[in-house]
Amino acid sequence: MSLFVQKYGGTSVGSIERIEAVADKVAGFKAQGHDMVVVLSAMSGETNRLIGLASQIQENPDPREMDVLVSTGEQVTIALLSMALKKRGYDACSYTGGQVKILTDNAHTKARIQSIDVERMRRDLDSGKVVVVAGFQGVDDEGNITTLGRGGSDTTGVALAAALDATECQIYTDVDGVYTTDPRVVDSARRLDRITFEEMLEMASLGSKVLQIRAVEFAGKYKVPLRVLSTFDEGNGTLISLDEEDNDMEQPVVSGIAFNRDEAKLTIRGVPDTPGVACRILGPVGAANIEVDVIVQNISAIDGTTDFTFTVHRNDAGKALGVLQRVADELGAREVISDDNIAKVSIVGVGMRSHANVASRMFEALGQDNINIQMITTSEIKISVIIDERYLELAVRALHSAFELSEPKITE
Ligand code: ADP
Ligand code: ASP
Ligand code: MG
Repeated sequence: MSLFVQKYGGTSVGSIERIEAVADKVAGFKAQGHDMVVVLSAMSGETNRLIGLASQIQENPDPREMDVLVSTGEQVTIALLSMALKKRGYDACSYTGGQVKILTDNAHTKARIQSIDVERMRRDLDSGKVVVVAGFQGVDDEGNITTLGRGGSDTTGVALAAALDATECQIYTDVDGVYTTDPRVVDSARRLDRITFEEMLEMASLGSKVLQIRAVEFAGKYKVPLRVLSTFDEGNGTLISLDEEDNDMEQPVVSGIAFNRDEAKLTIRGVPDTPGVACRILGPVGAANIEVDVIVQNISAIDGTTDFTFTVHRNDAGKALGVLQRVADELGAREVISDDNIAKVSIVGVGMRSHANVASRMFEALGQDNINIQMITTSEIKISVIIDERYLELAVRALHSAFELSEPKITE
């Protein structure tokens, strides 16, 4: 007998029929004798709808009130699933994040989990109940409702699995696993049987929204076995492998391609190229709570000035532009430019560690399709480039084919 924590995403609970189908699935596991904790998202589109309502009242509503609002979506689905399970003769009980004491900090809309009290859930499991928990939400130490950031139900699932020492955390979604790239963009994308935790972390942080990045971090930290599977089709899905032994296998150079359209590029031109200038530019940006991603500083021009370019989240672009304009006045820089029409494409693979020329293969593939690279950043297991957003899909397809990702992975 195992204890499974299963998380079902928005599409999987998007209608009454789908909730009934999830109830059948959960009942099936229960009938096999497993203990079941089920974490649910809101019905697909519901969180966006709620955010839309708030935006009709105020451009930047109070984050505390936003959390009270957006957490309601999950409360609907947990109650409906519990009813559907009871209808099938299985005892079930639904809980909000606060009721099972998912304690978080008070960073509303992006709170972090600090502790979970498993006592009540254990009691229910011992008495044979299915425990149904609202994803995405918690409570701070003053009893305020908090939420964990978009896609946060994944993190609830992993955190509950860690706290309950579950056999496996299973993320049920509308694709049957983690693919070499988003299967909605590249038809020939291939499902991976396994992906290392390190690669999954890069894929998630570079834009693959199949798992929330914090969920992957959490799984790594607490060594939670994590699997992504389809709600609608049978199959083993993708195991996020924590097993060090897997690294002995012959790894493909590139395992996957991630991309995102969430960034904007800012350039400050004609700044005096003197020691400390990077800090004088990025210091105020950081102080304004704006996270900077890719950074490039040009070599000095003959007149002793340089250009400095960096990317930020698109939502922060306006704020960053304001900060940069002030910095430009102070430094006597020539001008500040911002560009929203960019995208970041990244190749990810632990095999890059032991292979040379991966970067040149990437640049060659983009060059052949006439895609200009605006910025480049690398780490041991990834290379990211910033390009014009118009060419994003073309770039992803070109790289998918250049690194032969449609072919089955070769392992020895
Ligand atoms: P849920 O609502 O179940 O949480 P999400 O929409 O958050 O589902 O995540 C699933 C989606 O992630 C898929 O429909 C797919 O379009 C997208 N996706 C992006 N990159 C990948 C990838 N590498 N592998 C699988 N799915 C991906
Ligand atoms: N409902 C929330 C969202 O749409 C959380 C989740 O689905 O994981 O972001
Ligand atoms: Mg999701």
